Amino acid sequence: MKAFIISVGDELLIGQTVNTNASFLAEQLTKYNYEVVKISVVGDDEQAILDELDYSVSLADVIFVTGGLGPTHDDITKKCLQNFFDKSLVVNPEVLNDVRLFFQKRGKTLTKINEDQALVLEDATVFRNLVGTAPGMLNEKNGKFVITMPGVPFEMKSIFENSVLPYLTEKYPQNKIIIKQLNLLTTGIAESILYEKLGDLAVLLSGAKLAFLPNEFGVKMRITVTASSEEEAESKILEIEQKIRAIVGRYIYGKGDATIEEVVARLLIDRGLKLGVAESCTGGLICNRLTNVPGSSNFFERGIITYSNGAKVELLNVNEDFIHNYGAVSLEVARQMAEGVRKCSGTDIGVASTGIMGPSGATENKPIGLVYIGICDDKICTAKEFHFGDDRILNKIKTSQAAIEMLRRYLLGIPYDE
Ligand code: ATP
Repeated sequence: MKAFIISVGDELLIGQTVNTNASFLAEQLTKYNYEVVKISVVGDDEQAILDELDYSVSLADVIFVTGGLGPTHDDITKKCLQNFFDKSLVVNPEVLNDVRLFFQKRGKTLTKINEDQALVLEDATVFRNLVGTAPGMLNEKNGKFVITMPGVPFEMKSIFENSVLPYLTEKYPQNKIIIKQLNLLTTGIAESILYEKLGDLAVLLSGAKLAFLPNEFGVKMRITVTASSEEEAESKILEIEQKIRAIVGRYIYGKGDATIEEVVARLLIDRGLKLGVAESCTGGLICNRLTNVPGSSNFFERGIITYSNGAKVELLNVNEDFIHNYGAVSLEVARQMAEGVRKCSGTDIGVASTGIMGPSGATENKPIGLVYIGICDDKICTAKEFHFGDDRILNKIKTSQAAIEMLRRYLLGIPYDE
């Protein structure tokens, strides 16, 4: 089934409003097996809207129009529909009641133009608006359907999800294809290496899709499966998830909307372990992220920002000679910082960051983006070298991510080999 989306509004044409309605509808429709053949934007202009309606029915079976349904003079979509379908407007009693209640609940006076929101095209299938006043409508002409919805994004979304989609699914069961997606979240591994490790994707996926979506925190692997039932989709996703985990499971810290700090917080809390953090180059970001997790006081004992060499010596007992001989950005100092914060805070684990975030501070042997992260408990004290990029803020984010990931791998006994 072919779909056409028309977004109405001058504010869209002049770039004042981002057309989120069209992207929402396109994503949803694709998910439900509609082929979106075109998305267009027209201003609040009667002829332009009529032309677009003419064009859209020549191209698609279902046309989605959003915007311009409001009560003011520039909201002319309804007038255009009247012309296009050659129908008159009639009061819909249910909608009138909704509009009256809407105003009553908010203690506002109802005016004539508000009441006009209850005017709908005769013969229209009306979709009530539970969160606003302008209802949605469906009208038919020569076997083509035009569905109109208000432009306010949350109203459009509510009408689409609560009324339009159930209506269409019942009318066109062939579009009742189930599409399920699952995001597997990885960090500490490049997209290209993940891709290589997974081998022959066609064999691995058996018809499903896998997208690699990198960002500053890592690479999200999005699995997409289609099936004819929820159960079938669930089992297909699970099968692929298991296959992927069997190959690159060590890099996957979570799925869906999980954050790595939540995952690590859970591990620490479950094991009753306490953490101390010493930060240099990240300036408190690691602590900030860990304490964003509700309940963090159950594992987070303290964080110390030791930015200067003096602070590292004074507060963490870092050996001055080490700083002199190896530099403040070194494996040795990262280890000593982790050990120092663990000792002074009396925690089970100490973690530390030191690095060159840029744009200045690089030396011949130590480029911008060079970072060391130390981690220790009462038996081991280790540190690892990382190389990030040139951007100061991104370097801070990536360093915090690497430190939390080092903690996760330490807690799960996964060696940090790359
Ligand atoms: P209502 O009667 O509920 O006001 P309406 O159909 O008249 O609905 P518009 O006046 O066209 O809606 O737009 C209302 C608001 O929604 C405006 O702030 C507008 O910028 C925004 N909006 C309209 N169309 C879109 C769109 N395609 N994507 C995102 N926002 C939109």
